[in-house]
Amino acid sequence: MPIDFLLHIAHTFIETVEASGAAVKRVQCEACAFVYEYEIKRRSRGNAFRLPGGLEIAKQKAQAHLQKALQDGCEPVACPNCGWLQSNMIARARRIRYRWMASTAFCLVPISFIFFSAAVVFEALPKVRQPAPDPAWAIPFWVASGICAVLVVVLAILKVIWTRNYKPNTQNPNLKEIRGW
Ligand SMILES: [Zn+2]
Repeated sequence: MPIDFLLHIAHTFIETVEASGAAVKRVQCEACAFVYEYEIKRRSRGNAFRLPGGLEIAKQKAQAHLQKALQDGCEPVACPNCGWLQSNMIARARRIRYRWMASTAFCLVPISFIFFSAAVVFEALPKVRQPAPDPAWAIPFWVASGICAVLVVVLAILKVIWTRNYKPNTQNPNLKEIRGW
């Protein structure tokens, strides 16, 4: 596999260290001023060239990335008192909502390309190889490639539309009381 080979080459020259950790975030609710805490977990990586001292540099980078991720990060944890989702959490909530759609679309791109390549090969085979295989063999691969390509577009569009329209606080029944809406 060329990817394994490239990773092996990269691994020969580059030191990679992983770090993971957790932090407690303290939040004051924007809606009702209730103070609550929750835990976030993050995982980070640090890379450095495989030179003397490289491992130490990679460790320091991994720790620095981890500290920054824990400091800047948040999770969508609604206020336990009123249910309000804080404004910095909404962007995060949107990003992780329907994340499977984004990852499925991402995986379908190379799959579509593989079907496409297989179809091209079956189309080309009769010209270069005798006895020629039935050219109809290419049809299922064209269809599969097309279906994958359409799914990629549909999933990507739906993910964008559905997450943009996700406004968790507008469905909060306590809002009338809290904000007089
Ligand atoms: Zn609240």
